[in-house]
Amino acid sequence: MEVLIEQIVIYGSVFILCGLIIFFYLRKQNKVTATTTAKIALAKEEGSFEPISLHPYIDLNTCIGSAACISACPEKDILGIVDGKAAAINASSCVGHGACFHTCPVEAISLRIGTETRGVELPHVNQTFETNIKGIFIAGELGGMGLIKNSVEQGKQAVENIIKGLTHKNNSILDLVIIGAGPAGISGALTAKKHGLSFEVLEQDTLGGTVYSFPRAKIVMTNPMDLPLYGKVNLYDTSKDELLQIWNEALSKNDITIRENTKVDNIIPLEDGTFKVMTSSKEALICKHVLIAIGRRGTPRKLGVSGEELPKVFYRLLEPELIQNKHILVVGGGDSAIESAMLLMDENEVTLSYRKDVFARLKPKNKEKIIEAEKANKITIIYNSNLEAIQDNSIRLNVKGEDQIRKMKNDLVYIFAGGELPTNFLSNAGIEVKKRFGYIMKKHGV
Ligand SMILES: Cc1cc2nc3c(=O)[nH]c(=O)nc-3n(C[C@H](O)[C@H](O)[C@H](O)COP(=O)(O)OP(=O)(O)OC[C@H]3O[C@@H](n4cnc5c(N)ncnc54)[C@H](O)[C@@H]3O)c2cc1C
Repeated sequence: MEVLIEQIVIYGSVFILCGLIIFFYLRKQNKVTATTTAKIALAKEEGSFEPISLHPYIDLNTCIGSAACISACPEKDILGIVDGKAAAINASSCVGHGACFHTCPVEAISLRIGTETRGVELPHVNQTFETNIKGIFIAGELGGMGLIKNSVEQGKQAVENIIKGLTHKNNSILDLVIIGAGPAGISGALTAKKHGLSFEVLEQDTLGGTVYSFPRAKIVMTNPMDLPLYGKVNLYDTSKDELLQIWNEALSKNDITIRENTKVDNIIPLEDGTFKVMTSSKEALICKHVLIAIGRRGTPRKLGVSGEELPKVFYRLLEPELIQNKHILVVGGGDSAIESAMLLMDENEVTLSYRKDVFARLKPKNKEKIIEAEKANKITIIYNSNLEAIQDNSIRLNVKGEDQIRKMKNDLVYIFAGGELPTNFLSNAGIEVKKRFGYIMKKHGV
């Protein structure tokens, strides 16, 4: 009898313990699900739920909810857990690191571009990175596969393929023009130098590409990068300064000059199989091959107002914490303009000029915050206004309903007027661009 009671107590305790474990597990899971579901609802409201580029796609039949992908992701709130399985939250903020893809213990994640409902335009390139136009190659994120390491690898491989098809008949013509000096363009340039090609690198902005304009200093690389003429770079958690330093060192050691502030407007295929590369300053470079390494971020749209070429005019905000006690004009009514204006307003006198009479298509949080800031006199918003001219110490603003042009004291101008998409640039050169819906870029075993 005693033994029976003992057994009942033991089994009962084990049963209760198991019950408690299951109860607490389910309670935790429900809590996690509720948090992620709320975040998804907010992401949908703010328009960041639908991915715009490369993003993780979760196979729910394979996912075991280990949450390894969530801890591996260097960005915030891209993934969460719903009902014990991974789920995308702010997929449009994914930068395509692929850390989730590599870390998933059951290979439930593939990296895709576009969704079933939202297509993404991708140029067609073959396995040598050549486009449908013979002699024009594409490397880096523009082809769909992001990340520094991948872009470096593609830049190298594309130029190696160009070398294979190179004929040395006319040495007065450049072998290659590289457009863009991000990771892919830099790596292409180093490879071209290694093999003795005659080439030019044209960059609309400054060396470094998207990396240079990162809003944060930290960079994550899941694999070592093999930089031509430099060697293996074993950096995992690094800073953009460190990376830029490596690129600068590799380029200067090899006497490669990047022609910065030189935007390419057009590539014209000529009858003899060469190309005329036209810059925005109407310079024409004739070459045998072109490597397009312009990424996917496009070119910031200019307003075309007088004084826009002054060095105090910018199209992106880098290191706002270093800007103090300035009179600043921010132009635009989108999230980038509003977020930049708010980053500057505590330490500076900021005026926001917007051409419409009300903010449309802003993230609800940004709308709320900017209106609060205006009420608290932290910022001046001038609706219905257009920038007329930029001068050394002032700007001129045309405000609807006012007889006279407003002249305002000014030290810095930030313009956020959207951008020209790289797809137009490609189509103008005759390169085929296809809309992809949920196209798999990376899958285990493929
Ligand atoms: C916020 C953010 C964080 C990221 N974090 C990481 C990270 O931690 N690790 C990582 O590996 N990757 C990261 N990435 C992704 C990585 O930055 C990109 O995949 C990579 O920079 C792509 O390299 P690219 O050379 O193809 O293009 P880009 O780096 O975009 O360079 C393209 C260059 O071409 C120039 N260009 C464009 N049009 C023209 C033109 N018409 N004429 C002349 N020049 C032109 C541009 O000015 C630019 O300099 C991040 C991306 C973002 C947005």
